[in-house]
Amino acid sequence: MTENEKIAELLFPNIKNNAEYYVNKYGKRSLASGAIVTRFAPSPTGYVHMGSLLTAFYDYIFAKQSNGVFYLRIEDTDLERTIVNGVEGIITDLDAFGVNADEGVNLARKSTGKFGPYIQTERKEIYQAFAKELVKKGLAYPCFCTKEELDKIREKQEKNKEVQIGYYGKYATCRNLTYEQIKNKIDAGLKYVIRFKAQANIGDRVKFNDKVRGEIEMADLVNDVVILKSDTMLPPYNLAHAVDDTLMGTTVVIRSNEWLNSVPEHMQLFKALGFEVPEYAHVAFVQKIDEETGTKRKISKRKDPETAVSSM
Ligand code: GLU
Repeated sequence: MTENEKIAELLFPNIKNNAEYYVNKYGKRSLASGAIVTRFAPSPTGYVHMGSLLTAFYDYIFAKQSNGVFYLRIEDTDLERTIVNGVEGIITDLDAFGVNADEGVNLARKSTGKFGPYIQTERKEIYQAFAKELVKKGLAYPCFCTKEELDKIREKQEKNKEVQIGYYGKYATCRNLTYEQIKNKIDAGLKYVIRFKAQANIGDRVKFNDKVRGEIEMADLVNDVVILKSDTMLPPYNLAHAVDDTLMGTTVVIRSNEWLNSVPEHMQLFKALGFEVPEYAHVAFVQKIDEETGTKRKISKRKDPETAVSSM
C-alpha cells in the first residue's frame, strides 16, 4: 500500500465500494441523438422563489424540447440551513406550475428513477467513495486547522501583502502531513475536514465556454477547498455537484449566475475525478431593489416572502 492509500483507509475504513463501482453501477444513460439531460437542484433552505422557478422552467423546457430527461435533485447537505418541510414545499410548488420531473423525489421523500437516490443526504457513502479516491491519488487530504489557525494564516497573508488569500501552497500546513502525523491527530480526537489539493498556481487562468455567456476566461482555482465538512463528513456543493451531475448523467447544467465564479473549482474537481466536464449555462438571477439600501440585489428565499411562488 502506498502512503496515500494508507491515509485513505485510515480516513474511510467503512467505505468499501470504490469510485469505479459507482461509475459502473449507474452507467451511461441511453439517449436519443440530440437529447439533453437537465436537472433542477434546489436546496431546501427556504421557499421556492420566482428566480428558482424560472431556472426550473428552463431545465424542463430544454429537456422536453430535445426529448431528453429533466430530473429533480434535492441538495440538502447544509443541515444547519435546511428548513422543516423544505422538500415538500419544493415538490408541491413545482407540481402547482406543471414542472413535472421525469425522475426525482416524491412527497413521501421516495426517490423514483434509476440514478437515485436523488436526495443528497442519502448519498453520503457515494461522496465519501469519491473523496477516498482523491485521497488515494494524493489529490485530497485531511486538514485539522481550527478556525483560529485559519484566521492566523489569513492575518499573516495580509501582513505579507499576498495577492492570494486562502489555504494554499506554503500556507496549507496540512497539505503534506504523513500517515503517522494524521493518525496521531485522529487518535488525539482532533476534528478535520477533507480538502482538495488545488492544481493551479497563482496567476494561472482558465477558459471555458458558457452556453449563455459565451467564452469566459478567469483565474484558476489556487485554494485548497473543503470537499467534506467536519461534523457530518458530507460535501458542500462542489464535490456533490461533480459526483451527482456525472453519475446522474446531466448533459447541461443550467443554474443561476451566482455560480459562475465557481466554474474553475468545479472543472478542477471533475478533472481530478476523471470525469468529463458538463456543459454549463449560467442564467441571470432575478433581482429586486432592497428596501433598506435602495440598491439592486438578488432575491432571497429567506428574506423576500413576496417572491415565494407559493404565494402566487
Ligand atoms: N443547490 C444549489 C442552489 O440551490 C443548486 C445550484 C445548481 O443548480 O447547481 O443554489
